[in-house]
Amino acid sequence: MPDSSLPPLPAKSSSALERQLAVQRARRPADPLLSLVVPVFNEEESIDIFLTTVEPFLDRAGLRFEIVFVNDGSRDDTLSRLLDCGRRDARIRIVNLSRNFGKEAALTAGIDHARGDILIPMDIDLQDPPDLFIPFIERWREGYDIVYGVRQKRAWDTMSKRLSAGWFYWAFNRMSPVRIPPNVGDFRLVDRRAVEVLRQLPERNRFMKGLFAWVGFNAVGVPYERPQRAAGSSKFNLWRLWNFALDGVVSFSTVPLRASFYGGLAIAAIAALYALFIIGRVLIFGIDTPGYASLLIAVLGMGAIQLLSIGIIGEYLGRLFLEVKGRPIYVVEGVYEDPQPPQA
Ligand code: UDP
Ligand code: MG
Repeated sequence: MPDSSLPPLPAKSSSALERQLAVQRARRPADPLLSLVVPVFNEEESIDIFLTTVEPFLDRAGLRFEIVFVNDGSRDDTLSRLLDCGRRDARIRIVNLSRNFGKEAALTAGIDHARGDILIPMDIDLQDPPDLFIPFIERWREGYDIVYGVRQKRAWDTMSKRLSAGWFYWAFNRMSPVRIPPNVGDFRLVDRRAVEVLRQLPERNRFMKGLFAWVGFNAVGVPYERPQRAAGSSKFNLWRLWNFALDGVVSFSTVPLRASFYGGLAIAAIAALYALFIIGRVLIFGIDTPGYASLLIAVLGMGAIQLLSIGIIGEYLGRLFLEVKGRPIYVVEGVYEDPQPPQA
């Protein structure tokens, strides 16, 4: 079982942390390239707002930058609008996927194509506020390799989304040996050396929050308030979120498998005790025919537990099947960019 007494991140003595940060601080390039990685799916209304909002913040941060948009098989005008922007500004690059592969795959594609010394994956709907660029970069200069945004209040989310998110983080962190900090999305700054590790992870099931945490290194959180979507609508309904959570748990933890084993063990123990009790009763009081109710309950109960356990095994087996086939995580239709690398 995972050790549930692990302290929260960062879990290092302050002097050890300070020494490691100093080493990294000294290695920071003087003129780093920043890559924003933005997956987009049916977001034609959001592109212009996104660019006009983000660019002043990027200028203020004072770094060379590029913006890598990943068009995740949008069915509206997203691609042509992105291409227009790309023609106007050489710092915008567009990775066009051959169909919709889902946000996690799109983000992976963006991370693979980004050239920056530091990467910031963000959503296009401006729910990830660009005011955080400067605090992110400051913490990175202090020596942290991963700086993540921690959502303070989720005032704009529905009650059910907030509650289910709370349960999810609780359950995930109890089951998985890799801790993910609660209320942290994909919005974060990631140093190149963490990116390189991330790019080596071969799994097809990209639960990015988990993978970012799995990589390790020194991470620190910056609190922020998550605003409402600037335009368009959310692409995640409750069913998609449930499946996302299931993917997350099953790809990071084998506790459900073990839980079904212990459940079976507990039921077997109860059944053995009950059998002893019945045998004793027959020996003392003679044979007693009625009792089909208890029999039926036992049979139905066992049947249910067995189906549940098979279902849990099936979840893992299905994912094993997907991993073993080894298909690529995404397919790129084309990369649209200026042939010149971004200039200062
Ligand atoms: N997105 C994507 N592929 C998908 C679904 C979403 O690339 O299949 C992108 C979407 O365009 C946005 C980001 O992922 O930039 C987050 O999506 P959304 O805002 O709908 O999620 P929410 O904030 O509601 O969780
Ligand atoms: Mg959003």
